[in-house]
Amino acid sequence: MTVDYPIKKIRSNFPILNKMINKYPLTYLDNAATTQKPDVVIESQAYYYRNECSSAHRSVHSLSTLSTDYMEKTRLYVANFINASKSEEIVFVKGTTDAINLIANSWGRNFINYGDNILISEMEHHSNILPWQILAKEKNIKLNYIPLLYDGSLNLTKLSTLIDHRTRLVSITHMSNVVGIINPLIEIINIVHTKSNAIILIDGAQGIAHQLVDVQKLNCDFYVFSGHKIYAPSGIGIMYGKSELLKKMKPWIVGGGIVKDVSLTQNATFIDSPWKFESGSSNVSGIVALRNAIKYVNSIGIENIFRHETQLMSYTRHMLLKKNLNLMLYNKNNKSSSMIAFNFKLHNSYDIGTLLNQYGIAIRTGHHCAIPLMNHFKVSGMCRASFAMYTNTEDIDRFIDGLIRIQNLFI
Ligand code: PLP
Repeated sequence: MTVDYPIKKIRSNFPILNKMINKYPLTYLDNAATTQKPDVVIESQAYYYRNECSSAHRSVHSLSTLSTDYMEKTRLYVANFINASKSEEIVFVKGTTDAINLIANSWGRNFINYGDNILISEMEHHSNILPWQILAKEKNIKLNYIPLLYDGSLNLTKLSTLIDHRTRLVSITHMSNVVGIINPLIEIINIVHTKSNAIILIDGAQGIAHQLVDVQKLNCDFYVFSGHKIYAPSGIGIMYGKSELLKKMKPWIVGGGIVKDVSLTQNATFIDSPWKFESGSSNVSGIVALRNAIKYVNSIGIENIFRHETQLMSYTRHMLLKKNLNLMLYNKNNKSSSMIAFNFKLHNSYDIGTLLNQYGIAIRTGHHCAIPLMNHFKVSGMCRASFAMYTNTEDIDRFIDGLIRIQNLFI
């Protein structure tokens, strides 16, 4: 491990890491599901509710203008974090699922027509499959899938044959939530752009906490992510959209806070983007906490976090070999990743997860909301151990020990 990575300091900032589970220290390896929160995030929410709570973008009193100010400062902060060209390209949503549904319903319903087609991939999370399946059925259009190679990576040789001038949207994940493969986004986006005018949506739910994102360099049209996967609370997320697209899109969820005028007889008129997509009272405490979470990530440096996680992954692989653990690994070739997906002989993943939990080890089990990917590997479920900035070698050692104990149980 690199000596200058401040792992001890980082761990001391996450209070939950001191917890005991079943009389063992918590070994939290379910970070791809949700990350734990540092003190600065937890306390910023509590501080907001104790001292500053109010509704944003509604009233002229001091607390309300403070909340509005927090929202708009966070918008700018997030824009800088992913290098959007302006803060108006950042829309606050509940999370990735919410953002993809917004795009499918607001952009998809209005700009995709009979004869067009949509392209996603077989590695997607259900949140990036179901909205497109519903839209495709409704519009009676073709939904195509980039197939996978044996190791679960995208078969990019097939990509250009799946795109034509009627491809309206390509939506793919930045990083697989099961096998941790990081997709070559620039290469994919270049291929799409040479063959079509398709809109590109990147599901950043997994990528955002591990890779530096530059939406201008990527030249994607939308990039979406959930706050809770990058050390912020649940219920807040981001939809980045190029401003010319956002301007053309109509609000999908409608209600308070987004209108210029409403009458009982005429069509309503709406305010500008991004605010026209933020109907209803905003999750201001979540927005405050999201800014603190990203600030915290920036204070460590996302590239340092990624390097740390990659080193932990090679340590994990080394230990699995050294201890002769006979796992079926689904992402053997994927060296720079923050997660491993595996099965233990023919044992059900839930059984392995339950046994590991007895030793305080938290992993994810089951289909990971990616049943088509499970079908690709011909399994109904997998175990997944996923890392975060605070994961250390002791976590990995306890995880390996847990697996050894389970292996011994089965002999
Ligand atoms: N996309 C991917 C790749 C994910 O990993 C997840 C969550 O695990 C989602 C979408 C959905 O995110 P959320 O449940 O925060 O909306």
